[in-house]
Order: sequence, then structure tokens, then C-alpha cells
Amino acid sequence: VSSVELTHLYLDRIARHNPQLNAFISVDEGCSLAQARAADERLAKGEGGPLTGIPIAHKDIFCAQGWLTTCGSRMLNNFVSPYDAAVITRFKAAGAVLLGKTNMDEFAMGSSNETSFYGPVRNPWNADCVPGGSSGGSAAAVAAALAPAATGTDTGGSIRQPAALCNLTGMKPTYGVVSRYGMIAFASSLDQAGPLARSAADCALLLNAMAGFDERDSTSVERPGEDYCREIDAAAGDRPLAGLKIGLPVEFFGEGCRPEVMHLVEAAIAEYRKLGAETISVSLPSMQLSVAAYYVIAPAEASSNLARFDGVRYGYRAPEYQDLNDMYSKSRAQGFGAEVKRRILIGTYVLSHGYYDAYYLQAQRIRRLIANDFAKAFGQCDVIIGPTSPSTAFKLGEKAADPVQMYLSDIYTIAVNLAGLPAISLPCGFAGGLPAGLQLIGNYFAETQLLNVAHRYQ
Ligand code: GLN
Repeated sequence: VSSVELTHLYLDRIARHNPQLNAFISVDEGCSLAQARAADERLAKGEGGPLTGIPIAHKDIFCAQGWLTTCGSRMLNNFVSPYDAAVITRFKAAGAVLLGKTNMDEFAMGSSNETSFYGPVRNPWNADCVPGGSSGGSAAAVAAALAPAATGTDTGGSIRQPAALCNLTGMKPTYGVVSRYGMIAFASSLDQAGPLARSAADCALLLNAMAGFDERDSTSVERPGEDYCREIDAAAGDRPLAGLKIGLPVEFFGEGCRPEVMHLVEAAIAEYRKLGAETISVSLPSMQLSVAAYYVIAPAEASSNLARFDGVRYGYRAPEYQDLNDMYSKSRAQGFGAEVKRRILIGTYVLSHGYYDAYYLQAQRIRRLIANDFAKAFGQCDVIIGPTSPSTAFKLGEKAADPVQMYLSDIYTIAVNLAGLPAISLPCGFAGGLPAGLQLIGNYFAETQLLNVAHRYQ
């Protein structure tokens, strides 16, 4: 098929199914089809690569020139980006088609997509359930075949948890592998972009396009280019993972996980043994503090990052106000939703004089201990395995009124961001008609290996 035909097919599916799923915030048929025509011309000349002409949906956290870029917030309800994020530029260079911008929790704060100003996204496997978050629109779009693949961002689990809840493969790369330039910042020391797709092989293709040094992001890592498909494409026998040591952290297999999810995770581990891997027990003793540390550090960084939304230069401005201060407060009061305000208040509090030492500094210490735990574990094993999320998709509204319950849905994903490690979630079966995810965590820059370990199971 041509890219124009393929793009039409997905645009038609979006037109038919998006009203129910609410996975997309913006679609621009004219723009997508123009990119598809350009891709077809490249392909006709024998040019382009594996992603040329492939439609890709992008989380609405990535600035895309000429596109409304809302970050799920009323604050950016009128913001048409004048420039492209690095991720968008890289997909354009690869010849991919921008299929649309996907719904998300407001400023990526959430685990259910219910904090979006544009309304909740529904899980394609059960419309009464959440798709996970914050990249819930991307996950629902791919799961419902409204897009072949999508991008997401992961600050505390926002790629892996929606991947798990929607039966997809999603990867958070090592911090610094994908440029954050033009990606609206939530917690800059944790934020990392990555792919959501139907398989590890597809994720590897997407990561090939996304990854790479960018001098416009001061935390971007400069290292030799890597073909993330390399190990996947290599031939292997019937014990392709012989010699691989899998670490099973005792903290992942204690309380906190629903038995039906744990059952599927254990079955997947048995499968890994059949593929030749050896399993050993490891320990991440500080992991139990990860949610507490994260909910100090992430709001602290968010309170600083979100100070830029003041109604002056761009974004939402309250229609009526008395003076400049009143304009700031009314614009921010009306432009931000409840969860965003909660984070700004927490963040401002933990950074304030007198509380900085008691909260922020302590959280930073925990962060170091968690990274040390992982370093020790990776002295004993190659890959760590556990659940991605303690449950399958929950019902819309079930946790929306209880922030702490919502925060606890990230117990298995957050430590990875605090340590800056790569991790992938892949489907490991269904419980009660809903998918569950298996999480593989790798050492720094072990993306190629992680993708291959995921692929061999698939
Ligand atoms: N659920 C977590 C939060 O609300 C993580 C979100 C994310 O990874 N963007 O902060």
C-alpha cells in the first residue's frame, strides 16, 4: 500500500472510533496527507527508510510546528507551536507521517488519563475502564488500531503503565537517550520520551528514529549511534536467552500486586527459563521509598517548570482581571486543573525555606539509595523482571477522588525513573478480560538487549 492509502485508512478509523475513545486531541487530515504524499514520492525514488510513510501518533506533550499543542491542559488550549520538538523533527527526517496528537493527563500528571482538560480516554479492551496514563491517548490509539505506533513520555511510568493496561509494548529509554527539546517539561530530571507499539520489534524501529544526541538538551547523552534492532534481527536457536541472568527483586514479589496479575508474571518468568534464562533473587531495599521520594521530587520540579505559564506570553489568559497580579492568579486558577494545582502546591511547599532539608533533600538522598540498589543488583544479573502495574485497568472514576490510591498504581515503575534506567513493559496475558504487563528493567544504555529480551518472549 502507499502511504496515502495507509494514512487514509487510519484517518478513517480515527473518524469512526475516536468519538467513543477520545484518544486524539487533534487531527489534521490535510497536513497528514501532505506528509504521506511526500513520503510516497521519496519511496517512488527508492529513498527513505523503514518508517518512511508510516503514520505515527504523538502525545500532545511534543511541540509540533503549526499544530495545537495542549499538553492536556486548558492552559495551552490555544497554543499553536511555532517549532518542532526534537522527537518530531527526527520522525519527520525518517519520513514518518504525523497522524495526530494524542490525549494525555494534564501536563502528564496522572495514571489514568482522567486529569485531561479534554476528558478521559477509554480503554479499547473495556470502555468502562481507564487506559492508564499519562500517555493514555497514545496507548488507546495503538490498541484500537487508530495508529500503528505512537510516542509517549515517562516520568514515573507513563509509557509503561498504559502499555500494560492496553496490551502494548512500551519503552522508557535511559535518561538522556532521547532529546527533551520541545517536549513540555513536567519533572525535567525524570522525563524521558519513548515508543508505544504492538511489539518490541516495532519499538526498536521507533527508538532508532527517536534516539540521538541533541545539543539543545543539556542532559542529552553523546554516545555512538546504535541500531536498536541489532539483537532482534540476529539469528537465534530455540534457547535464544541462554546465559542471560534475570534478577527477581523480592520487593516486586511481596504484597501490593493483585494475585491474578502476579500469576501471569510468574508464568512469563517460567517461559523465560524455557528460553534459556537463569533466574536469581535480588533485593532493592530502598524501592519501598520510591513513591514517597517521587512525590516530593516530581512536584518540586513541576512547580518550577510550570511557573512559565503566566498568561503573559502564550497560553490561556483570564478574560477579566484588575491588574497584573490578578491576571497571573486568575489565569493560573482557571487554566490549571486540580491535580496540577495540587502538585504545584506540594512542590512549592517542599522547596520552601525550612522544609527543603526535611523533604526535598531527604528525597534526593533516597533517590541516590535507589540508584545504588540497582547498581548492586546489576552486579548480579543482566535484567530485572517484575510486574509493570499492580492491577489490570481499573474503572473510570474508581481512583479519581483518591490521589494516594492513584499514586500507588506506580509502585513498580517509579524507581526506574529515579535511577534513570531503561525499562520496557510487554504484554503477558489477560486476567478477567483485561491485559497485564510484564516489566523488564535493564542497566544504563542496555536498550538493545532489553528490546531483544522482550522480543524473544513475543
Ligand atoms: N503517574 C505518575 C504521576 O502522576 C507518573 C506520570 C508520568 O510518568 N508522566 O506523576
